[in-house]
Amino acid sequence: MRIAVLKEPRDDEPRVAATPESIKKFKTLGADVVVESGAGAGSSLADEVFAEAGADIAQSRQAALQGADVVLTVRRPEEFSGFPEGAAVVSLMDPYGHEEALKKMAEAKLSGFALELIPRITRAQSMDVLSSQANLAGYRAVIEAAEAYGRALPMMMTAAGTVPAARVFVMGAGVAGLQAIATAKRLGAVVTATDVRPAAKEQVESLGGKFIAVEDEEFKAAETAGGYAKEMSAEYRAKQAELVREHIAKQDIVITTALIPGRPAPKLVDAEMVKSMKDGSVVVDLAVERGGNVEGVEADKQVVKDNVTLIGIVNMAGQIAASASALLARNIYAFVEPMVDKETKALSINREDQIVAATLLTHGGAVVHPQFGGEPV
Ligand code: NAD
Repeated sequence: MRIAVLKEPRDDEPRVAATPESIKKFKTLGADVVVESGAGAGSSLADEVFAEAGADIAQSRQAALQGADVVLTVRRPEEFSGFPEGAAVVSLMDPYGHEEALKKMAEAKLSGFALELIPRITRAQSMDVLSSQANLAGYRAVIEAAEAYGRALPMMMTAAGTVPAARVFVMGAGVAGLQAIATAKRLGAVVTATDVRPAAKEQVESLGGKFIAVEDEEFKAAETAGGYAKEMSAEYRAKQAELVREHIAKQDIVITTALIPGRPAPKLVDAEMVKSMKDGSVVVDLAVERGGNVEGVEADKQVVKDNVTLIGIVNMAGQIAASASALLARNIYAFVEPMVDKETKALSINREDQIVAATLLTHGGAVVHPQFGGEPV
């Protein structure tokens, strides 16, 4: 089995899908690994460290792809020239709304696996790319906010007088939000947080944050069986907006992370709420890639509106690329390893396996995932 690790062609993607650590593990499974030259540069991983781990270094994408059975990339490749027919492609596929791209992948006769569709079951915890990347994004969002905020976060009592602690409000207390709460607390801020899932309350409080939310009947039923949030009714959203309107005016830093799987991000903060914030406040919107939670935030821009800095970094995990790649590579190894037949040492795709069924988008020349028009097994 030959595994190709490609360099991400986009400038805004510094992460890499394998590290020397994961390559060593693939080698012990009996695989040959080839890394496209420069693939690790954005994550401080030189070609030499991949070579020391046992990988061959290919000088071009086409050379890396030659004879590959498995292709590892961070993001879904845009075009498939040089991909051998029948190869498996393992990436963050961003499948929602990109059905045409999935068809193209099927026509290239590739078996495309979407890492973001890995089910959140116990067996798949070590493969959970959404959690590993969201955790780092939540951390980094606070660092970005702290940098843009022209004041200190902790309360400081000095001979020259006292500096008050910053007030940080985190909207959406999933994986990213909880890490943002923990990071802001470590930096000494006074932290409040909100979510629509009741389970979030205890988690926020256990990190030392204060939980605020509209806790009505709809809130009590807002968590799906998969642990995600539902899209809330217009009535709930109006009540939530009132609560946020009152609270946000007293905050120094707002970090929003609210997402609903397969849907645009819920709008939680309007321009008027931004305007109500104090001069010099900072808002970081981690949902910007899916349309954003905050009105006025622009993708990959830092803008100042009404004296409030609005930050919308799409690839927040990529801002901390070396850590993000290290965890992503472990997730990808954990995902691929169970599919390797220990006797033939080849990839064996068992479509009846729950994790395979949940992630396999294209196979045998067709889109096979039921959520994207395929026939279930
Ligand atoms: P996510 O990225 O889909 O959403 C982020 C947060 O936004 C969620 O907490 C969600 O409830 C919240 N949200 C959605 N709409 C909102 C609104 N209108 N107002 C306020 N908040 C809103 O979520 P996630 O980080 O992927 O986590 C989802 C759940 O999955 C959590 O319960 C998490 O603990 C759980 N989880 C389980 C596992 C596992 O069992 N292996 C792994 C990771 C996460």
